[in-house]
Amino acid sequence: MASQGKTYQFKLVLLGESAVGKSSLVTRFVKDHFDEYRESTIGAAFLAQTITLDDSTTVKFEIWDTAGQERYKSLAPMYYRGASCAVVVYDITQTSSLDKAKSWVDELHRQADPDIVIALCGNKTDLEARRAIDTKAAQEYADEAGLLFFETSAKTAHNVNELFTAIAKRMPLEQLASNS
Ligand code: GDP
Repeated sequence: MASQGKTYQFKLVLLGESAVGKSSLVTRFVKDHFDEYRESTIGAAFLAQTITLDDSTTVKFEIWDTAGQERYKSLAPMYYRGASCAVVVYDITQTSSLDKAKSWVDELHRQADPDIVIALCGNKTDLEARRAIDTKAAQEYADEAGLLFFETSAKTAHNVNELFTAIAKRMPLEQLASNS
């Protein structure tokens, strides 16, 4: 009989300017679906998804998708408090969205769990013709700030599973196993 694998559960929060594609990334990851005309997230939404890393290891993410609108900003600490990982999203066609992402990273570094795993995600790579943010510059920033970095498209599914799998692999699984 195959041995029972372990499932590790982590709270993951998505942050970023409104309309960068946070909800679309979650929908792609959880439901493998993309909706061009989806409604904006109000407040925050919750979904769960598991990733199987190998026969004995499954990572379950409890995903909190927050609304990017400024009027909900004061609620954000409620979502990133206790989070083990965060995906900070920007839109590669909107320069302002990377500035906003950097301010979220600063806030997480100041106020979230010091061990939080943060991934920077440049979304909408299918809109390459309208690209405003250079991949190399974003990668350099991510390296300096100690972040995982991926460019994705929720629309085409490019790199979406890779993003969440890389986060799962970065989580402190052995440490948890030896404590259990
Ligand atoms: P959120 O406010 O950050 O959650 O963003 P949404 O997921 O609501 O997406 C905002 C808009 O961008 C919607 O019209 C989406 O269809 C669109 N969108 C999201 N991801 C992508 C993508 O990868 N490519 C393109 N072309 N559009 C996207």
